[in-house]
Amino acid sequence: MVDRLVNSEANARRVANVEACFGSSGQPLMVPGRVLVGEGVLTKLCRKKPKPRQFFLCNDILIYGNIVINKKKYNKQHIIPLETVRLKSLEDNGNLHNGWQIISATKSFAVYAATATEKSEWMAHINKCISDLLARSGKKVVTDHSPVWVPDSDAPVCMVCCKTKFSTLNRRHHCRKCGKVACNACSTKKFLLPQQSSKPLRVCDKCYDLLSSGNASANDDNFNPGPDPLVDQDSSGEDDDDDDDDDDDDDSDDSPANSNNTTPSTEVEPTFYPGNQPQVQASD
Ligand SMILES: [Zn+2]
Ligand SMILES: [Zn+2]
Repeated sequence: MVDRLVNSEANARRVANVEACFGSSGQPLMVPGRVLVGEGVLTKLCRKKPKPRQFFLCNDILIYGNIVINKKKYNKQHIIPLETVRLKSLEDNGNLHNGWQIISATKSFAVYAATATEKSEWMAHINKCISDLLARSGKKVVTDHSPVWVPDSDAPVCMVCCKTKFSTLNRRHHCRKCGKVACNACSTKKFLLPQQSSKPLRVCDKCYDLLSSGNASANDDNFNPGPDPLVDQDSSGEDDDDDDDDDDDDDSDDSPANSNNTTPSTEVEPTFYPGNQPQVQASD
């Protein structure tokens, strides 16, 4: 029962510790009713390559950030409200094993756990938090999600015209509607995607045509963009720059402290705190 833990000192200490580890780079996390359910390192497939990221699962939000000093200091905090999250299991592919997609209104990406067991633990805990949250709060499931970006390495040529080869001169742009990589000529327009940003975002020509003809859902009637004190108000702002160079700020390289043998490792098993155990499917 999560309720037992709500006021527990141990939980308060854990949440305070997460807040302290992000320091001034993060949002205040001490919110009444918030329970830290689990934490651990997952490999996040970023735009250029997979990178270790620290994840914290709470009963209402998923937090992740870059690891500056393992277990001590994190930055680049992202907060995803769980009512916007849906998970999709991924088949193993090449070097990428035990993965799933975290799909949300504002940001969607793939993560990978060290083992199949950890994958099922993570997925079960996240799914349980989502269903408990929806049942408890009466919040509606958000059905319009941001796309998972196609990694740069998967797109040597523009995925719209299938002609332009990317180079230092021909830079890649990600369509914020479909997540595909498009050349400049194929992504000259912007469209308002309110669940991702208050400003119009770059979309590919195909999506622009669909969106402007009303054949694709740019809006989601269920989505309430009103202020939510639990949520990082700025979480959608990271790609807002007008020059639109598609930099996922997760990709910015970690601070030098990270090279001092504190390299995070997904070898360390995730910790899930007692009181909120879902049924984890045995993997053997
Ligand atoms: Zn193109
Ligand atoms: Zn598109």
